Amino acid sequence: MPTTFAPTTTDTVAALTNITKRYVNGVTALDNLSLTLKRGEIVALLGPNGAGKSTAVKLMMGLSSPTSGQVRIFNKDPRNTHARLRTGVMLQVGRAPEMLRVREQVNIFRGYYPAPMPYADLVKAAALEGIEERMFGQLSGGQKQRMLFALALAGDPDLIFLDEPTVGLDIEARRAMWAEIRSLAARGKTVLLTTHYLEEADALAHRIVVINKGRVICSGTPAEVKSLGSSTDAAATLKIIRCVTTLPAETLHNLIGVTAADTLNGLTTLTSAQTEATLRELLALDQSLHSLEVASPALEDAFLALTSN
Ligand code: ADP
Ligand code: MG
Repeated sequence: MPTTFAPTTTDTVAALTNITKRYVNGVTALDNLSLTLKRGEIVALLGPNGAGKSTAVKLMMGLSSPTSGQVRIFNKDPRNTHARLRTGVMLQVGRAPEMLRVREQVNIFRGYYPAPMPYADLVKAAALEGIEERMFGQLSGGQKQRMLFALALAGDPDLIFLDEPTVGLDIEARRAMWAEIRSLAARGKTVLLTTHYLEEADALAHRIVVINKGRVICSGTPAEVKSLGSSTDAAATLKIIRCVTTLPAETLHNLIGVTAADTLNGLTTLTSAQTEATLRELLALDQSLHSLEVASPALEDAFLALTSN
């Protein structure tokens, strides 16, 4: 028996197609977003606070309806009972009855599903040993997260939504949860994980979809997204200076902070890593300089903010 499952391009488990979600207060949380999840795949939805990650999860869960576009889970409406029974979720603001014990809650959840995961397996997967008899209200933040993770897995789901699952976990617990998530995917299960940590997305995901302001900024393998991120990081400190100047190319190249200089049709374009210093020197050297313009490299502001965290 093979123990790992390689995702194929044919097994679509869930899809958002051209989704726009506008809340009643007028906020457009998702703006024509499309996203497809395949069998055995871990996809990380990466983006800063307010990007629309939780909204995407709620739509896929059928907890919220799109303003336009289509949501499908196992090729059904997300509110379809059969589709829901194959789905597990850990919501970002996860709640549970304060007075019920961990063991009780896990078993209640198991009772909702036709073929639940064995209790002992859930305890192991979520590292609940030693806290099974405690009431939810008495748990630490990280322990609560772990119990909610067990609840998400209680039905032995084929599709799992984890909305910022590792917030509040210490490094050891975070790594343990990562290992569990990997093993779920290796058994052919599909995981959609939201996070605002590039590191987490990188450690776990087969595919990262970066969103901001409800739109996909880029997507690809972790390596692809990281290479874009690092070039963007560098770009965050770089500025483009344009002007008309009589200074020779050699002088321009030697200005403080300048990494590139080019003159075309009388217009000079400089790239500087120390904008103010470059400008001061430039203006001092050329009293007749005019048509000055300073700009950021043309990259999504959103991705700059994201990768500069
Ligand atoms: P993320 O999970 O990436 O932080 P959310 O999906 O929670 O982002 O939020 C996206 C945007 O939608 C934010 O501007 C947020 O304030 C807004 N928003 C989220 N939920 C609601 C709601 N129920 N009503 C109105 N606005 C909302
Ligand atoms: Mg969120």
